[in-house]
Amino acid sequence: MRDDFPYFAAHPGAVYLDSAATAQRPAAVIDAEANFVRRDYAAVHRGSSMAVGEATSAFEDARARVASFVGAGESEIVWTQNATDALNIIALGMSDASAGLGDPRFALESGDEILVTEAEHHANLIPWQRLAARTGAVLRWAPVDERGVWTVDGMREAMSDRTRVIAFSHVSNVTGQIAPVADIVALARERDALTVLDACQSVPHMPVDLADLGVDFAAFSAHKMLGPNGIGALYGRAELLDALPPARTGGSMITVVSMTEAEFLPAPNRFEAGTQPVSQAVGFGAAVDYLTRLAMSALARHEHEIGGALLAEIAAVPGVRVVGPRQGETRAALVSFIVDGVHAHDVGQFLDDRSITVRTGHHCAQPLHRALGTPSTTRASAGAYSTLDDVSALGAALREVRGFFGADR
Ligand code: PMP
Repeated sequence: MRDDFPYFAAHPGAVYLDSAATAQRPAAVIDAEANFVRRDYAAVHRGSSMAVGEATSAFEDARARVASFVGAGESEIVWTQNATDALNIIALGMSDASAGLGDPRFALESGDEILVTEAEHHANLIPWQRLAARTGAVLRWAPVDERGVWTVDGMREAMSDRTRVIAFSHVSNVTGQIAPVADIVALARERDALTVLDACQSVPHMPVDLADLGVDFAAFSAHKMLGPNGIGALYGRAELLDALPPARTGGSMITVVSMTEAEFLPAPNRFEAGTQPVSQAVGFGAAVDYLTRLAMSALARHEHEIGGALLAEIAAVPGVRVVGPRQGETRAALVSFIVDGVHAHDVGQFLDDRSITVRTGHHCAQPLHRALGTPSTTRASAGAYSTLDDVSALGAALREVRGFFGADR
């Protein structure tokens, strides 16, 4: 299937181990989007022309396929710019509700608590910081240990009778830790707290059924799952999504407007103000079709093998410290590490010079890196198209890094 990806033909010998940042796209996805733009492009949900009708069908059909891919109903999937946007829409909606602009179920009061983990991506941290600042709510978190791993006990200890929201990532983009979602949902239900799942790093790599998981809201991005960039999805349980105040307002999301007031459509349209990302939605639909053809269970097995090899290969390099769960513990196919005596950016440059693409830096998780005692790590992350050869190439290059920079002397 690697031949399905034009990137690899354009870069023979390239080792792409940065799929957690963004994934390469198969020709089927690129072509679906391009053909739609070439032949079928029109505005959606406005006007009554045949062109609009056909474009709207393609747009809504893509929504239905993405919804079914994650076990959601069609009206439970909102198109957003990306996962970051989806998480902001939830937090801003709650902020509006707290200001009296909508369903009081979403309103926070001073002293209410929002619970996250210390491992969150900034996208699932800063919107909650802002919500807390606007409402007087308190942000609390489950701490990570020296490996960057948090626990259900840590979550339980950080909870109280005032916990109203629990936001956490399904899979950490730094440590690869896989959250025990069912345990956290059970904790949340004891307190009637809302659950928000950052599913950015899970939906692309394993079968995920959001209804089965029982979370209230979730967010993911197309560009990490072989799809276009510029589009993501917000999932919400139907009765919640219909009641959450819309963070952004304007055209396409209303029923009746007067000079002083407006009424909003039900979900998903109430959250899609303005001209929608039409061709991106078509590409997103093609991406889930492609993933469905591969079969997510087969993909997860493949990535399990690659992830195990990646961890073993990197952990065996002298002078390299891997963060996150240890070998044998469940973790995703991504490995962040520290090379003793060499800055992560130098490691990245060294690998890049050998056509190996990885990510370096804090990976939008500064608090987690602070807890790990380092400002930055190097991350190798696999995707559907990753091979054991990619892993060996990385391992061989990594063995030379410390010698090259004189760190082994
Ligand atoms: N959460 C996690 C766990 C991520 O890995 C990312 C992407 N790095 C995001 C949120 C944000 O995704 P996006 O940039 O597509 O909004």
